[in-house]
Amino acid sequence: MQKLVKLGLLAAASMLAAVPVQADSLKEAIAADMPSLMDIYRDLHANPELSGEEVRTAAKLAAEARRLGFTVTEKVGGTGVVAVMENGEGPTVMLRADMDGLPLEEKTGLSYASRAKAKTRQGNDTFVMHACGHDTHMTGWVAAARQLAARKDEWSGTLVMILQPAEETGEGALAMLEDGLYTRFPKPDYAL
Ligand SMILES: [Zn+2]
Repeated sequence: MQKLVKLGLLAAASMLAAVPVQADSLKEAIAADMPSLMDIYRDLHANPELSGEEVRTAAKLAAEARRLGFTVTEKVGGTGVVAVMENGEGPTVMLRADMDGLPLEEKTGLSYASRAKAKTRQGNDTFVMHACGHDTHMTGWVAAARQLAARKDEWSGTLVMILQPAEETGEGALAMLEDGLYTRFPKPDYAL
């Protein structure tokens, strides 16, 4: 995961950068943050929510983005979150992660395995599991948000970080667009 986080962050930074990012210090900073990021990862993994019902997940990450100094709007296209950081002249870069889990029972035996249950739209009881990696995507999103917020002197432009609901059902992206993702917020030149 560390590699993925770093890759995404370097890609974002290279689009926003006025000054080249120092990869070594970035690597060290993310390594130092890893215990905290793993806490977030395990919490997200243990508490998955079904498509369109990502209320706890959205609130947790919206609060994190607010603490970092982003201007945060919640409930975009349902439970979607848009976090904007304006930092001078330059391109607008969007970083996206998805939030929903799947109606599956986790059988990994991990200490932080999900035991979460929910009702399907058909009214059936189901277990819920992050079986598609959205917990990893969101943790990478937090890692990138933290580093980009901490390194504002190393880039310039506008950063738009979004959390998309209901990826698994194919509904969330359209719902965010229809709720003004590209009209109420800066429209990205690049989206990752
Ligand atoms: Zn997925």
